[in-house]
Amino acid sequence: MPVKEGKMFIRALFDYDPNEDKAIPCKEAGLAFRKGDILQIMSQDDATWWQAKHEGDANPRAGLIPSKHFQERRFALRRPEVQIQPLKNSNRKSYAECAGHNSGSYLAGFRRSFRLSRKDKKTNKSMYECKKSDQYDTADIPTYEEVAKYRRQPNDKYRLVVLVGPVGVGLNELKRKLLISDTQHYGVTVPHTTRPRRSQESDGVEYIFISKHLFETDVQNNKFIEYGEYKNNYYGTSLDSVRSVIAKNKVCLLDVQPHTVKHLRTYEFKPFVIFIKPPSLDRLRETRKNAKIISSKDDKGTAKPFTEEDFQEMIKSAHVMESQYGHLFDKVIVNDDLATAYSELKTTFDRK
Ligand code: 5GP
Repeated sequence: MPVKEGKMFIRALFDYDPNEDKAIPCKEAGLAFRKGDILQIMSQDDATWWQAKHEGDANPRAGLIPSKHFQERRFALRRPEVQIQPLKNSNRKSYAECAGHNSGSYLAGFRRSFRLSRKDKKTNKSMYECKKSDQYDTADIPTYEEVAKYRRQPNDKYRLVVLVGPVGVGLNELKRKLLISDTQHYGVTVPHTTRPRRSQESDGVEYIFISKHLFETDVQNNKFIEYGEYKNNYYGTSLDSVRSVIAKNKVCLLDVQPHTVKHLRTYEFKPFVIFIKPPSLDRLRETRKNAKIISSKDDKGTAKPFTEEDFQEMIKSAHVMESQYGHLFDKVIVNDDLATAYSELKTTFDRK
């Protein structure tokens, strides 16, 4: 639905240069922008070309940008595996909506608010947070997300930290180091499983042990952020397990697959998402020559020395993650050597 002129703000999730756009009716009339820019929508009268300005731009003249639906269609043509949603009245719900939360894409007041809970001093740009909007909540193809100026409340805290990265990048080591650095301040979720409890395990410590029937019911009720099956048993992380860490007044450290991040970007959680990225192939060979990796293909979970294939896979997987989900990351830390990456992680937290 067209918005009141100039009242809507969006965050661009891709780079756009009108000079490279063969479809634009007049290149000079186009507005170039970069991923992450906040744009003010001045008119949506045309279904294909909207008129917009950069946030805070005093110049009254607006430029043309591709409409969300038009851009999604263009992206979809390049990625035939992705199905795009109808423009309006989509029946598809985000996970967070299904789970009874207020929409998948409120987000981001806290994105970057770790450091920037007020005006970003460097750029002097205001903080924006995502707003609920059906039209802006349906796409698997990142084009724009609707945002509203973020007004930080005095008691707002950043409570959920999501760590994302390819297998072997050192994400678990970093998480472990953070945890032991201050067990009062940081916490982790306890996963659910349907496998029988082992003698040395206690319910609620290593896992929360539940029946297959209950697990399946919980899955149907969208209580899990993620789950998987291993040797005929289910394992999963529930939304409630995140809540229970936060209820203890701790920062919940969660590592998940990047595709689940969008389900966590709710008004309730406002996660801060950190991507742990591998260094160059040469640096991987150099820094990991004596390190070990637990292969996902190895049933026993035994650690083995890294192979050249592991390094290549790590780089490839990081590249895919960044290109598909980079717009969801608030911070990227390159784990070249563990001590430096950890210190960068700590500094990020300490700036809070
Ligand atoms: P185990 O039964 O030996 O404790 O764990 C078996 C497998 O379950 C491991 O590969 C472990 O990574 C996986 N697992 C443990 N917790 C979770 C979880 O919360 N979600 C998923 N998807 N897998 C898990």
